[in-house]
Amino acid sequence: MTLSKKSKQQLRKTLEDMRQELLDEVRVQIERSRVKDHMGDLGDYATADMAAEYAHLFGERLRHKLQLIEDALDGIENGYYGYCEECEEPISEKRLQLMPFALYCVRCQSELERQAKLRGERFEEWYGASRNE
Ligand SMILES: [Zn+2]
Repeated sequence: MTLSKKSKQQLRKTLEDMRQELLDEVRVQIERSRVKDHMGDLGDYATADMAAEYAHLFGERLRHKLQLIEDALDGIENGYYGYCEECEEPISEKRLQLMPFALYCVRCQSELERQAKLRGERFEEWYGASRNE
């Protein structure tokens, strides 16, 4: 990867902020839901593990997004961040700044969108193909 140390730090920060937002969302939902009755006072302890454990209660999409963010952070740590899952080419930095947990480069993304469209599905950047509703 050709990302500079500074870019990586920025991307990590963005990802951590996104994760925090999601965790806050999970926490709010837990607080509002009856799960709380089984868990007692949550206080301030919403962690990634906890969210991963309970996120399934709040939908596949939220959990999926959280997983992507975790993977991206892992990737930054371990040096495999920023490569397209399809063609294994580096994803452009500009694109990563817009979508730090992007899985595909622009070219593969458009191709996947095109194929999904032919099947009558839509392809979301971070979620993959799903049926049009
Ligand atoms: Zn690609």
